[in-house]
Amino acid sequence: MSVKENLKLVIEEIKNAKNRRNVDYGDVTLVAVTKNHSVDLMREAIDSGVTNIGENRVQEAAEKFQILERDGVTKHLIGHLQTNKAKQAVKLFDLIHSVDSENLATAIDKAAGNIGKVQDVLIQVNLANEETKFGINEDNLQNLIDTIDTLKNIRLRGLMLIAPNYADVEECRPLFRSMRKIFEQVGKTRQDFDFLSMGMTHDYKIAVEEGANIVRIGTAIFGERIYLPANQ
Ligand SMILES: *Cc1c(COP(=O)(O)O)cnc(C)c1O
Repeated sequence: MSVKENLKLVIEEIKNAKNRRNVDYGDVTLVAVTKNHSVDLMREAIDSGVTNIGENRVQEAAEKFQILERDGVTKHLIGHLQTNKAKQAVKLFDLIHSVDSENLATAIDKAAGNIGKVQDVLIQVNLANEETKFGINEDNLQNLIDTIDTLKNIRLRGLMLIAPNYADVEECRPLFRSMRKIFEQVGKTRQDFDFLSMGMTHDYKIAVEEGANIVRIGTAIFGERIYLPANQ
């Protein structure tokens, strides 16, 4: 199937999942994840109506965006960011989903300040406390928010979650539900706190049902990624 046909199906599934919600959590933004895929596929997605693109590595994104030649696309960094890449990241991305430490927040703030930008970010929360995952534990979330609030060139727009890869995808549901609760709790006392980024190919329908308003989808749109040795 083509990117265009896959996209149509995914958009339909998002709509269906929205209709199954018990609460009106509003619209859902689809971020098409193009990591490890060619610029041609990226263009194909954009020409088929995609307005949000997600990449997970700064270097790969820099190379691809340079030859993309498509305007009006919102660019998301969804992967882990090293502090020494913050300078490049603020030049490339509209929204960074993966802030998970005070060091990183401080580095982004400094880099954004240097180019006169206020960088929109999400905090990545490691809600399942997985040792292998990036993200901040729930216990440390408020401290990180407080730190970000002291920084002038970085603006906290919401939260991001990568759910564990459970064999039974239904096991993600309680996590998504807790994340939505935390998101609403934090948002009560904040402005511009709008985005809850959760849900990937295997679990986005459940994420949308539970209140995600950004989903990050690669495989369902572009097929399996081919990992070349150099990219591992
Ligand atoms: C790769 C990736 C995705 C997309 O994963 P698929 O399973 O291909 O949909 C979403 N979020 C993050 C953080 C990723 O790294």
